Formats: sequence, structure tokens, C-alpha cells
Amino acid sequence: MSSIAGNPLLREQAYCAGEWLAASSSGESFAVRDPADGAVLATLPDLTPDDARRAIEAAAAAQAAWAKEPAKARAKVLRRWFDLVTESVEDLALILTAEQGKPLAEARTEIVSNAAYLEWFAEEAKRLDGEIIPGPNAAQRILVVKQPVGVCAAITPWNFPNGMITRKVGPALAAGCTMVLKPSELTPLSALALAVLAERAGVPKGAFSVVTTTDAKGFGTEVTKNPTVAKITFTGSTAVGRWLMREGADTIKRLSLELGGNAPFIVFDDADLDAAADGALASKFRNSGQTCVCANRIYVQRGVADAFTQKLLERTAKLKLGRGTEEGVTMGPLINSQAVAKMEAHLADAVGKGATVVSGGKRSQLGGTFFEPTVVTGVRQGMLVTREETFAPLAPIIAFDTEDEVIAMANDSEFGLAAYFYARDMKRVFKVAEALEAGMVGVNTAALANEAAPFGGVKQSGLGREGSHHGIEDYLELKYVALAGL
Ligand code: ADP
Repeated sequence: MSSIAGNPLLREQAYCAGEWLAASSSGESFAVRDPADGAVLATLPDLTPDDARRAIEAAAAAQAAWAKEPAKARAKVLRRWFDLVTESVEDLALILTAEQGKPLAEARTEIVSNAAYLEWFAEEAKRLDGEIIPGPNAAQRILVVKQPVGVCAAITPWNFPNGMITRKVGPALAAGCTMVLKPSELTPLSALALAVLAERAGVPKGAFSVVTTTDAKGFGTEVTKNPTVAKITFTGSTAVGRWLMREGADTIKRLSLELGGNAPFIVFDDADLDAAADGALASKFRNSGQTCVCANRIYVQRGVADAFTQKLLERTAKLKLGRGTEEGVTMGPLINSQAVAKMEAHLADAVGKGATVVSGGKRSQLGGTFFEPTVVTGVRQGMLVTREETFAPLAPIIAFDTEDEVIAMANDSEFGLAAYFYARDMKRVFKVAEALEAGMVGVNTAALANEAAPFGGVKQSGLGREGSHHGIEDYLELKYVALAGL
């Protein structure tokens, strides 16, 4: 029996076009597994592009009425959804940990901190103010109104199976859009659990669908080519983001893309080293290193490199690897064997080019996809770990000498999502914060995401922002009305 059998929010159906579907139009199904041991948690209908098209049509049918609801009514539904998620944290967390592997405490944090986006956008729904601009002559005014873009499609990854949904669906529904979501085929159960609560909260039938499918490309093709879909919001790899952009070009899709990162984490010689080591530990090993804002490259000024490394090692030694549901566990398994292979490739490249493993460095005795938290010193710019996102618990330490040198190394990347640095000198703080090519910079903190802040990247890390009052703009169009004859 699966660890979540009997969970009141577990569904083995898709939520498509306002109906709970036990079977896809092809009759195919797929299994969702626990990454800690490979056990089957649930079997879901494997929906086809035809099923997705029905969800899009239902979203289109629901959209006009939803957009016409007074903002206050939309806000109430979102607020109720937020309340239901908040009341159901434990059931949602158990589902999340079972399908994704992260420790229960992290799962709870993911749910609570991302439910906050539903609450935030419930409030923002009421503030979609337009403008009246003086006209070119006394008889004219320029009116600017904000209108929903329409039907949206969302594609979300497996690393935050719950949070990636609320921060997309929240602003979309608040703006008066409707949404067809394809969660990762690895972690669709959290999405379905959220849909149970959305339905209970009063989200109208068809306004939100969860299309469970292993045919990611089929879904991607349908939503990019279908002219009814006005916008796609995607979080995932840069390669898929590029593909969606290319495929969506024919129908001029609006796009929000939250893609790969390669976050530099810089420790200057005037930093509080304890705070820096705490930050590096959290940023590198949270979710087993599987977040797009995880520190990927840790640059430490030479004079404090040994002291910082020591502090990081002391903290790393206290991490407890294990099943996410076990008491005291602080790090779960990696999502699958490809993730382990990438970790090993990055590690082998670094060691092969002269780096030294000072902690971990191998698969855990727990077996499966468990990997020891690993710290490597003597890393140099140019090694694979400095160029590609590792997405695993590998902390490479690179010594540097000057501010200008480290800024150049940090910016030597096609990505620009998150960057972090620890320093106390104010002149340095401003200089470095302004020079780093990243959408988000953490100064003396490794915690970036919260609903009041605009989350997103520059360069090839993506387009658009999630959260803050800016986050809803991606779901709105400006309409200018020239009012004459006054
Ligand atoms: P990751 O490497 O984090 O798994 P992916 O970009 O492969 O990143 O996956 C993120 C999401 O994108 C998942 O929901 C996945 O199913 C989906 N996906 C992958 N390929 C495509 C595609 N061609 N079209 C649409 N969605 C896709």
C-alpha cells in the first residue's frame, strides 16, 4: 500500500475541462513513483493532445464570465482557495514529499510560502487600476484599461510541485484569465490536490484544468499552436523554454519563462562568515540542490577561503540524509537517476581537473538516488560546475582575489537568475549588487522568494516576473481608448 493511500486529497484522475477524468481518450495511463524507493504511489490517465484541446476549449468558454465577475468576487474565490490550502498543509505536504522526496518540513514550507501567492493575488485582483492621461487637445482624453490576456497554459517542473502552481494560477485567475496546467509527469499529485481545493473554493468549471500526461511535447505543441491560448507560462529548462518560444512564434504567444540558473554565491573578506556559511548551506543543499536559485558556484575571497570552508563543512556534517517523512531528515533523495548521473559527471570533471573532495563525493549507502552532500575545493573557473547548473548537492568552492575578478567570473554565464553575496562594506555592497547580471541578488541572505518580491531572471534565464504587484502584469494587456468629442 502506498504511503499516501487514503490521503483525502489524493486523486487518481485528471481534472480536465471541469470534470474529474478517470481515463484518457487513448485509454493509456502512467504511474507516479516515490523517488525514495521507486514505489508506485498512484496511476493516472495519460491525457492526449486531444484531451488538452478540450481543456483549452473549456477554459475559453469559462473565461469571459470569469473576467466579468467583479474583482471582489474573484478575490473571494482566491482567498477561499488560500484558506483551504492553509487548512490542508499536512495532507498536501505528505503528497508532496511522497512524489518529490523533499523532507516534510521543507514540503510544509513550500506549501505555506507559496499559498501566500494566492492570498497576495486575491488582494491584487482589486487593484488592476487603469489611467486617464490628458489628451492631445482639450476635447480628448486617453483612457488606459487593463484586461486579462485570456486563456493561459502553464507548464511546471517537479522541484516545487505545489509552489510553481500557486504562483502562476493565482495571478492568472486574479487577472480574469483561465488556465490549463500541465504539471511535471513526475509530480502531478500535488497539482491534482490543489485542484481539489480550487474546485471546493469555487473556481468555475473549466477555468482551471490539470492535464496529466507523459506526452510533454504533445501538450507543448498543442498549446503553442492553438490560437485560443493567448499566453504560456513555463518554469523549467532553458532548452524547453527556447523550444516553446520557437513553436509559439507562429501564433505570437505571450510568454513568461522561468528557466535555468547558474547562481554565483560570493563570500567577500569582510563578510560575517557564520552568516555566509548558513546561507551557503541553505542555498546549496535545500531540496537536495534541486532549485533554480540554488548556489551553483561558491566564490570565496582567498584570505577567508579556509575559514569559510571549515564553517561550511561543520554545517554540512550535520545534514541528515533520508526519506523525507522520517523525523530529523534534512535532505531527501535526488529526483531520478539522470540527476545522479549529472552530479557524478560534474564531480568527475572537477576532480579530473585537480579539485579535491573534502566532504561526501559519493552515492549514499541508503541506495537509490540518495547522494551525500558534497563539498569540493580547489575548483577553477571553466570547470563544468562553473558553466552548467548542477541541480544536485555539490558545493564547489572557487578562491578569488579581487572584486572585479569575481564580478567578471560571476557574470561569465548565459544565465542570470539569482546571485548572492556576503559583504559588509556599503560601497562594495552597492557596487557588486549593481554589477551582477541577475534578476535577483541576495545580499547577506540566501532567501529570495516571497510573494511581495518580483521573482525572475535576465539573460537566458527567462522573461517576466512572478510575485509582487508586477507579477500580475504578465497576465494583463493594456487597452488604450482614445476618447474624443468632449
Ligand atoms: P527539468 O530538467 O527540470 O525536468 P524540463 O524543462 O524538462 O525541466 O521540464 C519542466 C516541465 O516541462 C515538465 O513539466 C516537463 O514535462 C515539461 N516539458 C518538457 N519538454 C516539454 C515540451 N517539449 N513541451 C512542453 N513541456 C515540456
